Amino acid sequence: MPESGSGVISDTLPRARLIDGRASAARLRAEVARQVAVLAGRHGVTPGLAVILVGDDPASEVYVRNKGRQTLEAGMRSFETRLPASTTQAELLDHVARLNADSAVHGILVQLPLPGQIDELAVIDAIAPHKDVDGFSLVNTGLLAARGAGMIPCTPLGCLLLLQEYLGKLSGQRALIIGRSNIVGKPMLQLLLREHCTVTVAHSRTRDLAGECRRADILVAAIGKPQMIKGDWIRPGATVIDVGINRITVSSPDGPRQRLVGDVDFDAAVRVAGAITPVPGGVGPMTIACLLRNTVTAACAQYQIDASSLID
Ligand code: NDP
Repeated sequence: MPESGSGVISDTLPRARLIDGRASAARLRAEVARQVAVLAGRHGVTPGLAVILVGDDPASEVYVRNKGRQTLEAGMRSFETRLPASTTQAELLDHVARLNADSAVHGILVQLPLPGQIDELAVIDAIAPHKDVDGFSLVNTGLLAARGAGMIPCTPLGCLLLLQEYLGKLSGQRALIIGRSNIVGKPMLQLLLREHCTVTVAHSRTRDLAGECRRADILVAAIGKPQMIKGDWIRPGATVIDVGINRITVSSPDGPRQRLVGDVDFDAAVRVAGAITPVPGGVGPMTIACLLRNTVTAACAQYQIDASSLID
């Protein structure tokens, strides 16, 4: 493991447990596939997930392709609508309305970001709440905040499942979430409150971020700034969930190359934390697995099937 920072750190220092998001996501996908088989065999229902991609953003293309492949691998039906970057808001709303009315479609996801001429929030709120598998609509946001229920956004749900798998009950833990976006930070706050953590949310105006970090038993970083959280900001033994995905250029014997890193300085943090997610291979794989899970949840709700009855 290469070292970052100024000093040489001895290899004899304890190292955090690695939170293996790839393995957890594979287990979750397998569980979803089993539930899909039971839904088909016992109830004659095959969950269907529809994804709408507007424009040709290369990163979005990759996500959409992965979602489609994993949806099919889980035994579900995958529907893809690809629209040009020039699509108007009215045209997109028309597609959403058609998918809302299609009984073979149980989950709808509009890939973000959308081109500038389209009002993202209007499109998200046009998705029928019971098919809103991203959980970003006003109805699902309200349900999570007021009742701890509804469709839960996939990335925070993935973070929660990892935390529960590695820590068990979270009650009473002091948690710090860095970032207050609608897709990660805010729903993460609601989920950790629901699990009885004492939660602080930090953002770009927070004073003494290092001090806030040092008090946290659980630290969730969702900032989008490469390796911003330093090793000596982390409370010894804390659990670190790094949501950030940042591409940086590093030098190598073959010249400069691109590398993915999180928002946490992993090489230093791994010496201090009790458990930590790597980037890549931590939170990322859980996001699509949770999307598949949400699609099964949505299909069950639409046929009044108790989702827990699908687990052997
Ligand atoms: P946003 O840009 O929407 O939000 C970033 C948050 O970080 C904001 O709340 C911002 O504060 C805060 N922030 C920015 N600078 C600082 C700072 N110096 N100190 C403290 N807080 C700061 O990002 P997202 O929530 O959409 O994504 C965050 C990261 O997670 C990105 O790297 C993204 O790629 C990744 N991501 C990964 C996913 C996955 O599947 N693994 C899914 C979604 C996102 P303020 O509100 O004050 O501006």
